[in-house]
Amino acid sequence: MKEMDDYDKQIDQLDVLGSTQTVIKQALTKLGYPNEMYELLREPLRMLTVRIPIRMDDGSTKIFTGYRAQHNDSVGPTKGGVRFHPDVTEREVKALSIWMSLKAGIVDLPYGGGKGGIVCDPREMSFRELERLSRGYVRAISQIVGPTKDIPAPDVFTNSQIMAWMLDEYSKIREFDSPGFITGKPLVLGGSHGRESATAKGVTICINEAAKKTGLDLVDARVVIQGFGNAGSFLAKFLHDAGAKVVGIGDAYGALYEPDGLDIDYLLDRRDSFGTVTKLFKNTITNEELLELECDILVPAAIENQITKDNAANIQASIVVEAANGPTTMEATEILSERGILLVPDVLASSGGVTVSYFEWVQNNQGYYWTDEEVEGKLEIVMRNSFNNIYQLAKTRKVNMRLASYMIGVRKMAEASRFRGWV
Ligand code: GLU
Repeated sequence: MKEMDDYDKQIDQLDVLGSTQTVIKQALTKLGYPNEMYELLREPLRMLTVRIPIRMDDGSTKIFTGYRAQHNDSVGPTKGGVRFHPDVTEREVKALSIWMSLKAGIVDLPYGGGKGGIVCDPREMSFRELERLSRGYVRAISQIVGPTKDIPAPDVFTNSQIMAWMLDEYSKIREFDSPGFITGKPLVLGGSHGRESATAKGVTICINEAAKKTGLDLVDARVVIQGFGNAGSFLAKFLHDAGAKVVGIGDAYGALYEPDGLDIDYLLDRRDSFGTVTKLFKNTITNEELLELECDILVPAAIENQITKDNAANIQASIVVEAANGPTTMEATEILSERGILLVPDVLASSGGVTVSYFEWVQNNQGYYWTDEEVEGKLEIVMRNSFNNIYQLAKTRKVNMRLASYMIGVRKMAEASRFRGWV
């Protein structure tokens, strides 16, 4: 362990790739794998960087940088979303692809992890510019993706309309209609019931399970949600409908606090498609203040590195459930765990999205479509089992739930790589 401790110290806590690699190494060591396995899994097998020239509405041409990372395809095709965000970096996309592998392992899907990203700010682009960028990205990566190779999906600031343009472009290039090329599509193009709200449904199921374990009654429980995008907004609705009090929500510009519970239906009605709502209010608080509010359940549902060593000691919730990818640093994970706060990690809590994406892909392959109730029922079983497997492993191996999730998440991929003779 000495060698690993030294390695930990060198990690920049805000570097999501370095932090993920450290926990992957810990998980593989606990499972008894040799260092070669870590060498295989610490980076994606394939990483494509593309430059996409796009004609803007004013007649100028802008060159956008995009990425597609394919972490490991020993189990099956790689799978994961495409993020449109100004802060996208190569290291972030790599880390996100590793997290997708872990999610697939945790909910036992026949996939490895993949992820894409484009450095852009869709909030400042027109509808037509976004269409050209989405199509340009697919043209640039079309050689390495496909329904049996690598299957994209929505992520931060991408949605079913963008999936539809990407599908259309891919169908034109390949000259056949291939709905299973991408998931998160509109229903009329082969999308699945329940896909849009799937991440939030999965998080809700994890919150229910976590509340049972800690003896917390969800009725009147005080919840704070950072992020009002796809995950955060549906989650606020589900928890509000279940009787919980959503006392705080935040978006990229600020946060709202109401100790008696916010009017969630009103806020949902007024949010824009990027999950922005706080701009409409005068009495806002900062996102830093939001995270430290008095509450029972805290859900970071926005971006990376929100709970760090600087604020982990001030978190008041007894349960933290990560709906975003990578919102808590390694040091903060330790601090929360020492303080007895139950942390349900991202790779478990947010795996509902890719689970229903898998259901969508299965329905596309079969050409046979399920009802909303069927999707929801199947998702419920998968999420509950995954939560309880990880909770149990954490108890028996005396590790926190993040490390237990990594151990379960990495195992299938490591075994498949070993059987294939890669290590
Ligand atoms: N972008 C989502 C995630 O990070 C979903 C990916 C998918 O559906 O493939 O889990």
